[in-house]
Amino acid sequence: MQETKSSVRDKSPRNPYVSYMQGPVIVASVVFALSLLGILTRPEHMLAALWPANAILSAILVRNPRFNTLLGWLAACMGYVAADYITGSTPWVSLLLALANLCGVMVALMMLRRLCFEDISLLRPRSIGRLGIISFLSSIASGSVGAVVSGLYFGTEPVMGFLFWSSAEFANFVVILPFALTVSLRFAVLNDIVAMWRDAASGWEKVKPYMPVLAVLASLLLVQFVGGPGAIVFPVPALLWCALVYRLQVTAFIVFLVSQSLIYVLEFNLVFNLPAHMDAYWAVVSTRLGIALLAIGPLTVASINAARTVLLRQLDHAANHDFLTGLLSRRAFVTQGNELVDRLGVQQDRLSVVLIDIDHFKQINDSYGHATGDFVLAEVAEVIRQHLQENDLIGRLGGEEFAVLLPHISPQAAEDVAQKIRNAIAGAQIFGMGSMADTRIFITISAGVISRNLTSFSNLDQLILEADKLMYEAKRAGRNRVLIA
Ligand code: GH3
Ligand code: MG
Ligand code: MG
Repeated sequence: MQETKSSVRDKSPRNPYVSYMQGPVIVASVVFALSLLGILTRPEHMLAALWPANAILSAILVRNPRFNTLLGWLAACMGYVAADYITGSTPWVSLLLALANLCGVMVALMMLRRLCFEDISLLRPRSIGRLGIISFLSSIASGSVGAVVSGLYFGTEPVMGFLFWSSAEFANFVVILPFALTVSLRFAVLNDIVAMWRDAASGWEKVKPYMPVLAVLASLLLVQFVGGPGAIVFPVPALLWCALVYRLQVTAFIVFLVSQSLIYVLEFNLVFNLPAHMDAYWAVVSTRLGIALLAIGPLTVASINAARTVLLRQLDHAANHDFLTGLLSRRAFVTQGNELVDRLGVQQDRLSVVLIDIDHFKQINDSYGHATGDFVLAEVAEVIRQHLQENDLIGRLGGEEFAVLLPHISPQAAEDVAQKIRNAIAGAQIFGMGSMADTRIFITISAGVISRNLTSFSNLDQLILEADKLMYEAKRAGRNRVLIA
């Protein structure tokens, strides 16, 4: 796979100038577009509530270290300045605000780069906590510079300027970073949604996967219509439901959308219906902090759930595959083989069974050592695998014995496959290990092939037994041969 990919890529001549400029152009465009989004959705006379540029830039730079160059940073700076400038700011103020943003990104990036791959992929229970700390420190950095700039140019009181900037930045980072770090641009999420709809049987089954999202929407309606100081936590149960049901990226995206909606709904309600004794700025700062901290709960659950899914998948793979050859273990082969036999039996379709045993394998162990024997087993398994199609099934039944199930094909075609495997193994360039690296090890196999039209009475054990008998006949007849019933 890897080789084909790179050779296909190599065919298109790459202009070094284009690949050199690719990173900066991407960075500048993304920062410009996101800053514009922040500025255009900014409430009047207030700092932007939605400011995804810094968190997304940090995620881009940590996920693509090749963009993290001096040119990349200059490009990012240009992106911020250009968006601010074309929306009416003066060049100096734009530049200083860009520097405040870049300070936050720099702190975030410095810390993100120290995290291990599992933490960046949010696959550890503590990952979200670490992102929380990074968000906090990054927001302090940009808030400090931002406060000085706002103080100088807009006359904002420094402490208030700092709290206002940092709380907004913290709220943005906490909800955007998890999504930006895990999102895949290959539309995996979209494919998931399409597959969920396509694969569900009908009626209730089709609607069921969307229930958590519907619950989130319902909770947001409650926020809008019931309101009050408790409203901020209304979406929590629905978000936890999402975290348990959906993939991490999907939950991270939903948490991001909900946090933004909450900021808009709650902040505006607060600002416009504020009790006389309350300071509007304090209320906004408090709301943003509250929403950011609230998002950490569902995100942590989603991250723990994702880590658990990965672990279960690894366990499942380890339980079903042979460690040495990577083929199906005997138990998994029998389980999947029985399913295949049942399926083909119902369709009255044809199945061929090939049983393969390495000749005089004990001698290989005795002559070259057990480690070389293991290596030979893995090589032979790989050669067999290369001759199979997607729907064929192969397992290591034990020791140096392999079984292959070939559905649909004719007896002649099955024998051809077995002969090709036998030839390939006899001609394989397998060498010893260590001091015997120059010694070629000649391997042969004996195989028995049977081919049957299956019925609902067909039985995998019986089929394997028959192929096994033929394989032993091949041994008796002199080995290095294929016998077919
Ligand atoms: P034949 O041609 O009759 O099949 O002779 P053979 O020597 O291949 O058959 P036999 O059953 O006498 O010996 C099989 C050997 O395979 C014995 C065992 O030590 C070796 N073996 C089984 N599993 C493994 C393994 O996982 N690694 C290694 N290195 N050897 C193994
Ligand atoms: Mg053998
Ligand atoms: Mg054997």
